[in-house]
Amino acid sequence: MDFAQLSTERPRVSDQDPEEVLHRIFGYETFRPLQGDIIREVVNGGDALVLMPTGGGKSLCYQVPALVRAGTAIVISPLIALMQDQVAALKELGVRAAFLNSTMDFEQARDTENALMTGELDLLYCAPERLIQPRTLDLLHHASISLFAIDEAHCVSQWGHDFRSDYLELSRLAHEFPGVPRIALTATADERTRKEIGERLSLTEARHFISGFDRPNIQYRIAPKTNANKQLLDFIKAEHDGDCGIVYCLSRNKVDATAKMLSDKGYTALPYHAGLNAGDRARHQERFLREDGVIIVATIAFGMGIDKPDVRFVAHLDLPKSLEAYYQETGRAGRDGKPSTAWMVYGLQDVIKLRQMLEGSMGNDHFKRVERQKLDAMLGLCEVTSCRRQVLLRYFGDTLEDPCGNCDTCLNPPETWDGKVAVQKALSCVFRTGQRFGVTYLIDVLRGSENERILQFGHHKVSTYGIGTELSVNDWKSVFRQLVANGYLRADPEGYGALQLTEECRPLLKGEVPIQLRKDPVIKSSGGRSSAGASGRRKIVDQITDKTGWEALRACRKALAEEKGVPPYVIFHDATLFEILEKRPNSLAEMAEINGVGAAKLEKYGDTFLAALRELDGL
Ligand code: ADP
Ligand code: ZN
Repeated sequence: MDFAQLSTERPRVSDQDPEEVLHRIFGYETFRPLQGDIIREVVNGGDALVLMPTGGGKSLCYQVPALVRAGTAIVISPLIALMQDQVAALKELGVRAAFLNSTMDFEQARDTENALMTGELDLLYCAPERLIQPRTLDLLHHASISLFAIDEAHCVSQWGHDFRSDYLELSRLAHEFPGVPRIALTATADERTRKEIGERLSLTEARHFISGFDRPNIQYRIAPKTNANKQLLDFIKAEHDGDCGIVYCLSRNKVDATAKMLSDKGYTALPYHAGLNAGDRARHQERFLREDGVIIVATIAFGMGIDKPDVRFVAHLDLPKSLEAYYQETGRAGRDGKPSTAWMVYGLQDVIKLRQMLEGSMGNDHFKRVERQKLDAMLGLCEVTSCRRQVLLRYFGDTLEDPCGNCDTCLNPPETWDGKVAVQKALSCVFRTGQRFGVTYLIDVLRGSENERILQFGHHKVSTYGIGTELSVNDWKSVFRQLVANGYLRADPEGYGALQLTEECRPLLKGEVPIQLRKDPVIKSSGGRSSAGASGRRKIVDQITDKTGWEALRACRKALAEEKGVPPYVIFHDATLFEILEKRPNSLAEMAEINGVGAAKLEKYGDTFLAALRELDGL
């Protein structure tokens, strides 16, 4: 693709109505909640700090004002790959967009700079390190700038995990371009980070726009880990066969092994982690973005700024460290608003591992306390017996009045049972064996196993030996997992997974207080939990009765995408394709009514898709 080549198809729009731009250029009917307010604020020259969940529609918040206001909008974005795709997508819409970053040669950069100076650009994307070069700033002073948009604004926070020192320099924009409105956008900011963004970017006067955090199209599911690989395969096969998804694992080895396991089963699964060379990483990301149905298996190194709209599932084979991480990672599913699944399996070993990592880490006490609270909140979500979405949203300061009906605990409410006696037995067994053993051993003692180690240690003589035959090994694992998750037992910080009593467990050990435990749902070996899909939020593919038509339209889109060298969703999103199939437009005028078909796309692709529909009808 020749990035420097600028699209000049569209005459300069200015003094236009934002709604008109939304309809004509983007082909959308209405603004989403908050979008309209934000756009009005920026169009009128005000500053804005925007907090919206992934997929909430942040891009339009600066793209529409960029087209309404005179001059070029400068978009600061930390991710070069993303920049290229956004520019490609905008050009598809007939918008005059370009970018400046380190991947361009001298001539390309010069052409882009010239276009900026002569007012031929609506939007210019720029990497932060590039923007703050004196040469670039000088250039901007001589150009007509409509606004600055600072994407992924949380990168300015030194406490976050995405900190970029270049972002700190962006506060200069406030002083150097006092009359130009600035809009900072992020999906991940608690109140402290939000304050930090305001201060560090000199956006203290900015209006804050905070949208609800709910992602209703994502179905949250968390199940106890039994056989992780098999559970993952069953899940994908039953519910997301052929879909694009992300599988997160904690370690590089596990990423490689899981990618191989999925490939062996016939899926297109690619590994992604910091141990791969840069070339492989870029290639895998590229294939994930451009091909249909690719599964990326990744450590957390993957994902920031991946704005692929049609990721249908995010699976976690390991427990994230915090709800922030969980929400950010699962948030990469379903940005297009279509039904998607956030699926996770977790077990006692995950809890032990994370607790040990935390206690063994270098941080000071305050740091550890904060991390411990975060992990507790994460574990709380795993063990909760009420709606998971309510727990998640409450954590982020949002409220959901009623249970959501689209998480596993809503769809399939877990039973609870009176765990008082079992818990007493478990804790007492830990005590009697000297707080030196892991869960497998403890369960063996409780169930009266005659294994050699037990005899060797003489634990067949302790009072808790063989008193737990009423529960299966898995039931006991569930008891221990909940005890560790809830802080009644902790893993020995020295390692080896030995469980120790905590201060909190005393009343339970003495049987002074009742305790309700979660009954782990019985997992059927085949078919997974696909009944969950019957909740009225069905997947697009399930709603398609005309499979031949769907495949034909997809093939048509793929051919266009390949011709243009862009990902298929840049041509049309699935939702748009689906609407074309449903409504069967007969003319360009009818085609223009479809959501996602703006003027430029209508002109470029309208006839091709009308022809594809006609051919289908002729069959
Ligand atoms: P974010 O950057 O907040 O994660 P995006 O800006 O990528 O989200 O938007 C997510 C998806 O929603 C995109 O596919 C976008 O085209 C679509 N979208 C945004 N605003 C609207 C709207 N008003 N009507 C229809 N679709 C929209
Ligand atoms: Zn729910």
